[in-house]
Amino acid sequence: MQFMWTTSPLGKLHCISVRKRRIAISVAALASLFVLAGVAASVAAFKLAFDYDPALVANIGGVLTLSEAEKRESDYRHKIEALREEVAAAREQLGQLHVLKDEFAKLASPRATRAAPAERKSVPGRGGPHIALTAEDTGVGSFDTARAQAEELNARLKQVHSDWRQELLRLERLPMAAPLADMHGLSSSYGVRLDPFTHSPARHEGIDISAAAGTPILATASGVVRRVAADPQYGRMVDIDHGNGYLTRYAHALAINVKPGERVHRGMPIGAVGSTGRSTAPHLHYEVRLNNQAQNPLEYGLRRD
Ligand SMILES: [Zn+2]
Repeated sequence: MQFMWTTSPLGKLHCISVRKRRIAISVAALASLFVLAGVAASVAAFKLAFDYDPALVANIGGVLTLSEAEKRESDYRHKIEALREEVAAAREQLGQLHVLKDEFAKLASPRATRAAPAERKSVPGRGGPHIALTAEDTGVGSFDTARAQAEELNARLKQVHSDWRQELLRLERLPMAAPLADMHGLSSSYGVRLDPFTHSPARHEGIDISAAAGTPILATASGVVRRVAADPQYGRMVDIDHGNGYLTRYAHALAINVKPGERVHRGMPIGAVGSTGRSTAPHLHYEVRLNNQAQNPLEYGLRRD
């Protein structure tokens, strides 16, 4: 390749011959020099920036210093720990709800249906490929979102647990159980009846259940013993206050083995069947009173717990 030029219109013609290969080598060398200069400038700039403000470098370049990496790792560790605690709390809340659910089921189910369900004989057929859940599937976008969801779930579970516990306590204070394990000896019903002594119509404010002397008398709901007395009519008797205006009375006992002020719970033995007071033979006279008005105990879904 030849280059020709003159310095003036009448000047001498200059001429130079350059080989193509030489040009290519020169261009490549020049380009390399530029690239090296650029890299050196970048490195120098980062070095200066690191010395001046490492956080800025981390932000601009996506580079973490050691202390930053440690801090970030520590943050994540704390968040994971907090999340783990929230999940553990939720699990515990769910466990408590399960226990509560069982208590409700026990309270609400007739005895015959309380037997544990028969074990499943055959294994149900199920299958398919295993595809792991993604963060979108679980709705867990980030630690903070997951933690917020766990906290909200915990708060809701606590509220449900508290509501259910209150309801269960209310139900446990209702006199819905039977005062004797065996209620087959029902001998006198509630309401007007012929008095067993005078044989004339008289009001009967409870029910009578015949049973052998010494048979345990059971509290029909949780409550507090209000009165223990030896009455000419009722014989040895005990009143239990269940709150909300409810009171139960157990009379003609051979013995009462609780004291006034004592807390009792449903199904707890509180005395023994006898024939004290105005009684013809060993039996339990049982009353349910609401705001001091006699109620028919049989309308309270008598059950044996
Ligand atoms: Zn009676």
